[in-house]
Amino acid sequence: MARKNIAAGNWKMNTTIDEGIELALQIQDGQRNKEVVIILGVPFTHLYPLKRKIKASSKILLAAQNCHHKTSGAYTGEISPLVLAALKIPYVILGHSERREYNHEDNALLSQKVDAALEAGLKVIFCCGESLEIRQAGQHFSHVKKQLSDSLFHLSASHMKNIVIAYEPIWAIGTGETATPQQAQEMHEEIRNILRKKFGKRVAENTSILYGGSVKASNATVLFSQPDVDGGLVGGASLKSDEFLKIINSF
Ligand code: PEP
Repeated sequence: MARKNIAAGNWKMNTTIDEGIELALQIQDGQRNKEVVIILGVPFTHLYPLKRKIKASSKILLAAQNCHHKTSGAYTGEISPLVLAALKIPYVILGHSERREYNHEDNALLSQKVDAALEAGLKVIFCCGESLEIRQAGQHFSHVKKQLSDSLFHLSASHMKNIVIAYEPIWAIGTGETATPQQAQEMHEEIRNILRKKFGKRVAENTSILYGGSVKASNATVLFSQPDVDGGLVGGASLKSDEFLKIINSF
């Protein structure tokens, strides 16, 4: 997977299926930028109906927001990566800070989830990022490095073709406070350097690294124009079609 510009929406636990279909079709009908990969991270229940409604020619791809680290078994309420793959859902978001916090997903568990997802044939949008306390203590680079090394460093360079990284500083998620373009760029450059040292130049250059944290139409252009920012993982602003379409057109 060569490095691509990606506008990914994370709908979280929002929209009914009907509302989700309406939103996805508005994005499909309104989007003109064929150079951008558009990914919609939607609730599990929406995946199948949206898959049927979205035209294959629209270049809109779907993502689940989580999957289990086992492929089947007595795990009530969980979703197997094999089920997502059988539905031909290409992406799964793993390691979102909300799941790390509310569902106690740690780096070790995420490592297993990454393996299960890749083995099933899914591509992974792997989220990392630091809290405000960690940033204020000046430990944001080492924190992100540990998240990447604990959950991804066992992979091969060839596995890394199916990984997209989303840097999402927790202090910027849903707060309206966005990292400055300089803060985003310096972390993305650091992540690319980490990838270069571990996996080599080709992986570093070909991995898309997205920024997430209060991306909106008014700040997307300056963020996406940073040399190591390949797009965004967008929460709140992806729930409004006109706003998300402007973000898609910000590259
Ligand atoms: C997110 O949830 O991944 C996110 C970045 O949210 P928001 O854009 O609302 O900050």
